[in-house]
Amino acid sequence: MDYTGHIIKMRTTHSNPIKYELLLNEQLICMNDLIKKYIVLEYKNEINCIECGRQTNKSFAQGYCYPCFLNSPRTSDCIMKPERCNAHDANKASQCKDRDQKWAENYHNQNTYVYLALSSGLKVGVTNDINTRWIDQGAIQAIKFAKTPNRFLAGQIEVALKQYVADKTSWQRMLKNDVAYQDLQEMKHELKNKLVENLHQYFHSDDTVHEMKYPVESYPEKVKSVNFDKESIIEGRLWGIKGQYLMFDDGRVFNVRRHNGYAVRFEI
Ligand SMILES: [Zn+2]
Ligand SMILES: [Zn+2]
Repeated sequence: MDYTGHIIKMRTTHSNPIKYELLLNEQLICMNDLIKKYIVLEYKNEINCIECGRQTNKSFAQGYCYPCFLNSPRTSDCIMKPERCNAHDANKASQCKDRDQKWAENYHNQNTYVYLALSSGLKVGVTNDINTRWIDQGAIQAIKFAKTPNRFLAGQIEVALKQYVADKTSWQRMLKNDVAYQDLQEMKHELKNKLVENLHQYFHSDDTVHEMKYPVESYPEKVKSVNFDKESIIEGRLWGIKGQYLMFDDGRVFNVRRHNGYAVRFEI
């Protein structure tokens, strides 16, 4: 069967295992059903911005045209650096707020979580959509660390924890399932003691360790990333899905999210 449309990162449902769905031209394809099957992705040499729909020669920040990259609140610097967000403060300028006040109010002046997760090793992160974030990062376990009333405060906590914990994931190790294990509950309480007093009030009492199981038939020993900027056809037997990556049987991996807005033909 053939599908055509523009790639947008896979929708996920927290079930056992995680359920992945790809929406192509209003048709929802269950990716879990394709494990062990031969699939073909063909790039149609067209990228459309995921915000304004305009055609663009190059994709910026995973799916935006250059004007949207400069103007969308979704590409503000407080996305990568939450500690710079001022959406909560009427007296201070903030890139997200200057770009779109309503958006900033809805997304950055809202309850935000700081979490600890195991993806390749222990990491700290900030998000207002924990389930999606944990799965997109390919975390196998995660725990809430703090809940704050806005993104800025979550960023302050993340900055404090970054001295002790990484904030990045090694995608190669995540995809090989080569995870340096640490006890999340133990680390959570150990790290609480590193926070300055005025941030303690945001510490989250829920110590549930959430587990994520991915639809992976077998993990590769070596991974090689493939993308549409280098080759126009990516095909093979699908061996697993983790994070936003499709894993083919010979260790080639394809980052779906990186190709947001790319027009493709998908053959299954
Ligand atoms: Zn655009
Ligand atoms: Zn912001």
